[in-house]
Amino acid sequence: MRFLIASLALSFSLCADVHAERKVAIFIADGFDFPVGKPDGDGYYKARGYTPHGHLGEDWNGRAGGDTDLGAPVYSIAHGIVVYANNFYRGWGNVVIVRHAYQEDGQIKFVDSLYGHLDKLQVRYGQHLKRGQQLGTIGTGGGLYPAHLHFEMRKDLRVGMARLSFPKDDSVYWSGTQFINDHRKLAIPSATVMAPIDTFSPVTGKMDDSEPAEPRGFTLPGAKLPPKPLPGAVPGRYDDLRKLLEKK
Ligand SMILES: [Zn+2]
Repeated sequence: MRFLIASLALSFSLCADVHAERKVAIFIADGFDFPVGKPDGDGYYKARGYTPHGHLGEDWNGRAGGDTDLGAPVYSIAHGIVVYANNFYRGWGNVVIVRHAYQEDGQIKFVDSLYGHLDKLQVRYGQHLKRGQQLGTIGTGGGLYPAHLHFEMRKDLRVGMARLSFPKDDSVYWSGTQFINDHRKLAIPSATVMAPIDTFSPVTGKMDDSEPAEPRGFTLPGAKLPPKPLPGAVPGRYDDLRKLLEKK
């Protein structure tokens, strides 16, 4: 057992060396927009929101329902650099992660945005993106789901595709819509800042991190039929449609 622990420790330290953190200059975010229907999410609704210990991101779906949003553009929510662009399979399909720097309370902070189940990957690792730049298209995760965007925001830059190694709560994740709404326009103290990259934890142990609430055959609200207009209600641009329906 002791030997096992020692060899595990050794392999982790070797991994750490291989994936040594580096710093690169990136553009500081001048604000954050929505990842679909840019810049305000027009034409889309959130079929599911962020829930700690549950769904760790947001599912964005076209208002026309079904797979009408298949192939629709997905945009970087802010200036940043691509720190992951690959097919992760396992319920994820094509995934892009972009790292952003922003100023808040006189400090430079960092945040990662993740775009999952993409049909097309249109960026590569290390590429600099501007706010609103297309990074891929809405997909089905390789046929697993009705077409939608799974979108996450992480405050912890180590998560990457190793979600199982981290707490599934607000210490690691932002509620995407709330973060974006709170950071639509930002002051930029300078054009660029040095950002850490290659910070992700290695994916170890149990590899199956598909979302339990999104099994094959899961049907998003409105996936078969367009969402019905709400009598007398004027839906907000980025309101959760389900919440609006509950209010009625
Ligand atoms: Zn999702």
